[in-house]
Amino acid sequence: MNILFFGPNGSGKGTQGAILQKKYDISHIESGVIFRDNIKKGSALGKKAKEFIDRGELVPDNITIPMILDRLKEDDCKKGWLLDGFPRNPEQGEAIKKALDEAGMKLDYVIELLLDREIAKNRIMGRRLCANDNNHPNNIFIDAIKPAEKDGGFVCRVCGGSLTARSDDQDEAAIGKRHDIYYDKLKGTLASVEYFKKLSKQGYAAKIIELDGKPGVKEVSEVLVGKLG
Ligand code: AMP
Repeated sequence: MNILFFGPNGSGKGTQGAILQKKYDISHIESGVIFRDNIKKGSALGKKAKEFIDRGELVPDNITIPMILDRLKEDDCKKGWLLDGFPRNPEQGEAIKKALDEAGMKLDYVIELLLDREIAKNRIMGRRLCANDNNHPNNIFIDAIKPAEKDGGFVCRVCGGSLTARSDDQDEAAIGKRHDIYYDKLKGTLASVEYFKKLSKQGYAAKIIELDGKPGVKEVSEVLVGKLG
């Protein structure tokens, strides 16, 4: 099963992606995670990407598009994948559609998680990253995925690992920019969602699933899994 997963930053995309990864045994590919791993390693890619990420801007397409298309060629993607955080603009949308067509690969679902900007912003500020596994969701503002308490602080609710907050998640200006890009229906991520909706109406195989991101983690995942079958 191959899935494109859209939703504003903070909508719970990563959390739902982790659930689908386990349930359907597919690879969960997050463009932001690939960038952050490269920054941690100090690679050339990480060095190039960091300044854009810190400002909440998109890393240029000439870096991002080949990085993702190459990632999809890796062995673990043969069993299926869920792409989270890409495409983020119409150019990236067209690039992935073209690459899939050329590789004879089918896109099965395009999922769009709907959430108001204000709620998404609050959720972003509450999320924490587990040092051991990026697929261990933790958020100090969401009961279902609230970190565990230890020695007066928080640790990962799944494995007890240490937690950090992303610096771009604690910077309101950077959050605002990321949301400006997401909610932009002309040149941003919603334009890319529209591109796939239009394709679907014209007979492109991918099914569109829209779902409300407001309810809790469990409720959203039940509705989602029900629609995926
Ligand atoms: P995320 O973890 O999805 O919030 O992504 C963190 C940051 O990585 C974004 O604010 C961008 O700077 C960069 N990034 C992630 N995905 C993309 C993409 N598809 N295109 C360009 N930049 C991206």
